[in-house]
Amino acid sequence: MAETYSHSRLSSFEDCPRKYQYRYLMKIPSESEGVEGFVGKVVHDVLERLYTKVGEGGVPSLQRVIARYRQIFDDRYDEKRIRIVRRENPLSFYRELGDHCLANYYHDHYPFDSTETLGLEEHVGFELGEPDASGPAHIQGYVDRIARTSEGVIEIQDYKTGARVPSQAKLDKDRQLALYQIALTDHYPERQPFRLVWHFLQRGRTLTSTRSADQLLALRERTLALIAKIRGTERFETRPSPLCRWCEFGSRCPGNRERDPDLPSWEETWEPPESPRSGAVDTAAGSVDQLALPLTPAAKGMNAPN
Ligand code: SF4
Repeated sequence: MAETYSHSRLSSFEDCPRKYQYRYLMKIPSESEGVEGFVGKVVHDVLERLYTKVGEGGVPSLQRVIARYRQIFDDRYDEKRIRIVRRENPLSFYRELGDHCLANYYHDHYPFDSTETLGLEEHVGFELGEPDASGPAHIQGYVDRIARTSEGVIEIQDYKTGARVPSQAKLDKDRQLALYQIALTDHYPERQPFRLVWHFLQRGRTLTSTRSADQLLALRERTLALIAKIRGTERFETRPSPLCRWCEFGSRCPGNRERDPDLPSWEETWEPPESPRSGAVDTAAGSVDQLALPLTPAAKGMNAPN
């Protein structure tokens, strides 16, 4: 059976190998979530609903879209689970951040008919290949929106609610949407043009990129090499950084200088899950991993805002 990887799973290893180990190998359940990620999920859900309504023939007013956002926000918000790391910001700041993101998108895209929607929160996946002798790897993810332009270009669209807008050079090397393009290539006629599209909602900016066949081939090779490296890792080191403040495992991670000194480390209390081949849910917005990972005896020694 092929192991399944997602962009967020690969990023987790790149950000901090210990976080990867906690989340994907030790399968420690996440007890909290940063408020930035929470807002992002609610905004994603509201945009999915907006396009569903448009597909049914009606364009909701901005007022209704914002009302829907606030309703979902209030229904789901759990102060025991959602963490506000930047304590200088009150909860109302994050509530209004979603309003702002949605209003920006609404004004830029109304009446939402410039492209044809082909898929919303669409699950995509493909067989990546065999990174090493221990078996094949599968890639999967969820595309926020797949759309077709009037010129026939297939757009793979992604919504971002963070404040940071990466440089064009960085987007031209972005892995996530390029992997989705590989996954979708087989579904469309040969030489179908694709465009990767990022909507930076907080800034009201949209950036795009394209990939050649050679670039996608090189991405496959790089991703296979990264998975081989993950599989070959014996010690999943901590990588302390400012992102520890947002890490869901920070309270008990030995690498976090701000960990709770009264709590034992995860390693001290960890017990193997009942079924080592059971699935693990990746809570990053827009992606879910169903994992089947072999655990080494020591669990092979183990998302932040943007
Ligand atoms: S708290 Fe920091 S060092 Fe520890 S797992 Fe999280 S990111 Fe890594």
